Amino acid sequence: MKHQEFHIKKNDTVQVIAGKDKGKSGKVMRVIPKKERAIVEKLNMVKRHMKPSQQTRQGGILEREAPIEISNLMLICSKCTDPTRVGYRVLDDNRRVRFCKKCQELID
Ligand SMILES: [Zn+2]
Repeated sequence: MKHQEFHIKKNDTVQVIAGKDKGKSGKVMRVIPKKERAIVEKLNMVKRHMKPSQQTRQGGILEREAPIEISNLMLICSKCTDPTRVGYRVLDDNRRVRFCKKCQELID
């Protein structure tokens, strides 16, 4: 199986470029490769109604992050602090790393 690679990874700071949270940014908590989506901290929040159970005695409304399509996320470069396109570069030790196409800073 081919290893799938995305332009964002866990712990990246990203900006949303489409949808209801367009323009907002946050930290990637989890990437879901199969769905090509990612969970971003405090973004794309959805309310879930919880039925009363033994754990949540009263039930109620729980807010949690819903996955966002990775194609709607742009990496924010930590150096130039702008949302940026990501390029790839192979280092001398054959490591493949990402770099910021704006300021050329290596990201990994
Ligand atoms: Zn940059």
